[in-house]
Amino acid sequence: MKPACFFHKFWKNMEYMKKTFRQCLQTNNITALPHQTAVIIFCLCLSLFLSIWLSVCIYTDMMPILEAAENPVETGNVPLPEDAAAGEESEKPPAQKLVIVIDPGHGGDEEGGMYDSFMEKEMTLITAKAMKEELEKYEDVTVHLTRDDDRKISLEERVAFAKEVQADFLFCLHYNLSKDHNTLFGAECWVSAFGRHYSEGYAFADIEIGALEDLGLYSRGIKTRIGKKGTDYYGIIRHAVEQDLTCVLIEHCHMDHENDRPFCEGKEQWETFGRLDAESAAKYFRLRSDVLGVDYSDYPVMEVPIPSGVMRPDTTEPDICMIEVTDQEMETGNVTVELSAVDYDSGMLYYDYSYDGGNTYLPRLAWGDKTKDTITFTMNVPPHIVPQIVVRGYNGYDLYTESNLISLPSMDYKTEEEIAAELAEQEKIAAAAKAAAEEEAKQNAVALENQSANYRELTKKEKETKKEPTISYFLTVCLVCVLLVISLALSMVLILKSKKRRKRRRRRRRQAQSQNGRHNR
Ligand SMILES: [Zn+2]
Repeated sequence: MKPACFFHKFWKNMEYMKKTFRQCLQTNNITALPHQTAVIIFCLCLSLFLSIWLSVCIYTDMMPILEAAENPVETGNVPLPEDAAAGEESEKPPAQKLVIVIDPGHGGDEEGGMYDSFMEKEMTLITAKAMKEELEKYEDVTVHLTRDDDRKISLEERVAFAKEVQADFLFCLHYNLSKDHNTLFGAECWVSAFGRHYSEGYAFADIEIGALEDLGLYSRGIKTRIGKKGTDYYGIIRHAVEQDLTCVLIEHCHMDHENDRPFCEGKEQWETFGRLDAESAAKYFRLRSDVLGVDYSDYPVMEVPIPSGVMRPDTTEPDICMIEVTDQEMETGNVTVELSAVDYDSGMLYYDYSYDGGNTYLPRLAWGDKTKDTITFTMNVPPHIVPQIVVRGYNGYDLYTESNLISLPSMDYKTEEEIAAELAEQEKIAAAAKAAAEEEAKQNAVALENQSANYRELTKKEKETKKEPTISYFLTVCLVCVLLVISLALSMVLILKSKKRRKRRRRRRRQAQSQNGRHNR
């Protein structure tokens, strides 16, 4: 019955209010309105106004407070206009510029890593200067260096300086090398293991590592490290966190490894790293630059939730590491191995292998595609040994697990050295034969030359000797001819004379006969 009574009362009230309101309108007198009616009308007007204002705000995107609440990590480091009002206006610049501090690692008598002619303290300073120069091309950013020359500063002093200039972020630049040289390779970023310093550091490092990978370096990942006291291991990160400042330590590459060496050969490449660091920072802080013609205001920075606990490093070896031989080429010594390894904490990073049962290992190799648990690779096993294959799989913290051991039959092929030696021997023989042939040819040529010289000499002599007989011969021929002509002429004369004599005799005989005839008569 109660609800019915309530509705009844409410309806009666409404009827009464309607009546009095109509009376007011008729008499044109607002004071005649009862108190409750006036309150209801006021409330109605207020809610109408509020709803109109809310819709205008939503349509014109004027909801800064709501947006900030939606992306607490992404804008965590970029000073918001609200912060400016929080009592620091007198110290901070009026435009609430972003303040970045770059710390070139080492300095003074603390050289850092040294390899060949390279000194880490010099490399980091050049990189830091290039990073500063590049970052200053962006709008609304102030950049400081903890040192701009070669001098020693303690880690506390570096952080204190950053705090003094009210830094929003501290970038600590380094170059790496491994204890035994030429074993580790790649780039890595170290971040704090605590709270917002972890999430902010990780979000920046994600961009930085991506850029270093694009450059061609292998990623050793984004990592935390805890010291004995349970705080961050790296002093610069630890002191920064103590001062509520986020710090990321960038190890650009390993200056002592042949894989990374082509990326850090000299000043130009160290400066390239600096510009790359600046671009990553600009993306993280969503800066824009008219000079460079870039605008990162919409850059998709990774959202890293602030961890509730300590982000501890991986202290355990890979969980699984197994091998299987899928092929063995007896003629070449090539053995194909399928390696399956898993590390549930920090993933797989490298592997290395041994064919003598684990006594000696070949240099570490990159795992490659870190999303895959199984990789296949081919190793070359020397001949005349019994191959005993074993592989080590390394996780993101350089801890390894040794695989099962596989024994294979010996292979008696010729090694490259043997083939090369044989080839060299053959070449030597061929070269000797060629030399002998050349010598012979040379001797033949000399002999031929001598022969032809002799021949030429002979012909010359012959010609010379032939020239004299020719004249005498000619003269003889001429003489003979003359003699012949003379004898011919003589014989002609004799013939003619004898003919004449015969004619004369015949005439005389005829005359004598005719005289004898006359006598006889
Ligand atoms: Zn260093």
